[in-house]
Amino acid sequence: MTRAESAYLARVARLGCACCNLLGFDMSDVQPEIHHPREDQGMAQRASSYLAIPLCAEHHRGAHGIHGDRQVLRQLKCSEIDLLAWTIGRLNS
Ligand SMILES: [Zn+2]
Ligand SMILES: [Zn+2]
Repeated sequence: MTRAESAYLARVARLGCACCNLLGFDMSDVQPEIHHPREDQGMAQRASSYLAIPLCAEHHRGAHGIHGDRQVLRQLKCSEIDLLAWTIGRLNS
């Protein structure tokens, strides 16, 4: 990973969990994990660092999270791409 990628991911992590933000939860004191949209397809090695979504442990790997039954996406009526768009929008606002 390049220095620019590490710096980018640090900025993404500082946004806090995308799902918690959209649900109106204040998770500002929780360091989020970084989710890459194509992880599940075994693309993690090749997935770009710039396709990064910050998620708390629950919304990332929890029972209803992105790697769980994805209930949180149905609750938010959005897709991973929408979360990616939220991330990029926040970084540029
Ligand atoms: Zn969350
Ligand atoms: Zn993930």
